[in-house]
Amino acid sequence: MTPVQKTLRLVLGDQLNEKHSWFQQVDKNITYVMMEIRQETDYVNHHIQKVLAFFAAMRAFAERLRDMGHRIIYLKLDDPGNHQRLDANIRTVLDQHNIGSFEYLLPDEYRLDSQFKELAKTLPVPCHAADTEHFLTVREDLAQWFSGKKRYLMESFYRWMRKRYGILVEAGKPVGGQWNFDKKNRETYRGQVPLPEPLLFNNDVRDLYQMIQRNTVKTIGNVIADKLIWPVNRDQSLALLRHFVAEALPVFGTYQDAMTASSWQLFHCRLSFSLNTKMLSPMEVIAAVLQAWENHPDKIGIQQIEGFIRQILGWREYMRGIYWTLMPDLSVTNFFDHRAPLPGFFWTGNTRMNCLKHAIGQSLDHAYAHHIQRLMVTGNFALLAGIDPDAVDDWYLGIYIDAVEWVEMPNTRAMSQFADGGRVATKPYVSTARYIHAMSDYCDTCIYDWGKRHGKSACPFNSLYWHFFHRNRRRLRKIPRIGMMFRTWDRMEKREQSQILQQAETHQNRLDRL
Ligand code: FAD
Ligand code: SF4
Repeated sequence: MTPVQKTLRLVLGDQLNEKHSWFQQVDKNITYVMMEIRQETDYVNHHIQKVLAFFAAMRAFAERLRDMGHRIIYLKLDDPGNHQRLDANIRTVLDQHNIGSFEYLLPDEYRLDSQFKELAKTLPVPCHAADTEHFLTVREDLAQWFSGKKRYLMESFYRWMRKRYGILVEAGKPVGGQWNFDKKNRETYRGQVPLPEPLLFNNDVRDLYQMIQRNTVKTIGNVIADKLIWPVNRDQSLALLRHFVAEALPVFGTYQDAMTASSWQLFHCRLSFSLNTKMLSPMEVIAAVLQAWENHPDKIGIQQIEGFIRQILGWREYMRGIYWTLMPDLSVTNFFDHRAPLPGFFWTGNTRMNCLKHAIGQSLDHAYAHHIQRLMVTGNFALLAGIDPDAVDDWYLGIYIDAVEWVEMPNTRAMSQFADGGRVATKPYVSTARYIHAMSDYCDTCIYDWGKRHGKSACPFNSLYWHFFHRNRRRLRKIPRIGMMFRTWDRMEKREQSQILQQAETHQNRLDRL
């Protein structure tokens, strides 16, 4: 009798989907392998909480697979036999265990996808890739949907997804009479409703922390190592989902764009780490909010539900499609030819600009900032100040708990920095202090005056904003939605213009001291 061939299956740190068909049956001829490697800790400078959360979640997942009866090889970062690279470790495990075939789940990053394609060409055994069974679209869906079009409008993709999955759709029409309640998602938060007590976990990761220190992995940000607040397994992820639905969903949409110095998470769900590691599936998150809405239509309005579902069914899947459509070119785009380095305060939070101090400070403390803080505070500032998109990309990829390139890069490079020249965003997401003042309470206690354009106390956003349009006029003049900006600029007195430009240049020469 010919012996049954043994198979090795690789599970990456962002593939912790215990509902995947791979794990539904135990087979003694299948061995799973997971590995903590320097290849992944070192490709960018990560937040310490991000490294800890990924490793803790991977270890918990390996335990879970073992409990389910699966065979698993888990390589810790400091195991003597760990070669610290995916390909070298896979070759060694195949060899040591006399394994006849290799299988992996499709990675979500271009970098890893290329590495696996290369590996497959040279492995001595047959190699097969399987779907992660996580996303609601396949990589190519978006490109096909937008085939032949110049711009990839999220709204049309989102409507297509609503119809495709029958979510908030009845007889082909949107429930509530509108596809999008975005206009009802723009309230400022001034304490109208109490903030929910955040659900923070007390995961003790001291052993992991010490291992990371011993191995001198370079990280950024702060942590209390016996109280890692992030969910590191499916049960904790489900608890966070339930907590969000009960405590924050009823007003999620209303305050979706609001910012306040009194809370670092407001009414956001903080589920992006659980989703991006695939501990939760997007569809179960959507199902949970729809169920809550069905149970409590009196408490939860359509604008809250639609606002939330748009993020998961729309933005998240759309960004993934953009990534696979525009890679690898997206990673080197720099439409404005911006070259300035990131100011040092992005690594310390040490700036007098109150909005940046809060957005960066909480990112360093919690590896988290919500969407509008990322887009309209840090991203807005980086674009106006002319920071090199490579540096901006690296910062976002390192600092956030949920930062995985497939979602980080299209959000940062395309959406926030307009580095792709506008294939994704219809116009650059920039604003003066007026927007930040309207959407937050940051300006109330800031040393700078949000209403002034120049002078010692003037908010830097204001002069940098006009300087941005002035210096990029040639590049932007054809974009229809920003003609009004140039008309406003042209109507300003010459003296005012020159004071604004001078002020902006002074700032640009000393960004570190703002
Ligand atoms: P909520 O605000 O409660 O939203 C619910 C969920 O919707 C999120 O968990 C997320 O899965 C999804 N979602 C919302 N907006 C987006 C979006 N624009 N793109 C994709 N999914 C979205 N998100 C990441 O997951 N990883 C990143 O690395 C990342 N980098 C970003 C960089 C920039 C410059 C910007 C502007 C946004 C970035 N985002 C990223 C999107 C968004 O900011 C985060 O998904 C969100 O802040 C996560 O917090 P939350 O779970 O509390 O989300
Ligand atoms: Fe930010 Fe300017 Fe407002 Fe200060 S005044 S918080 S720098 S927008």
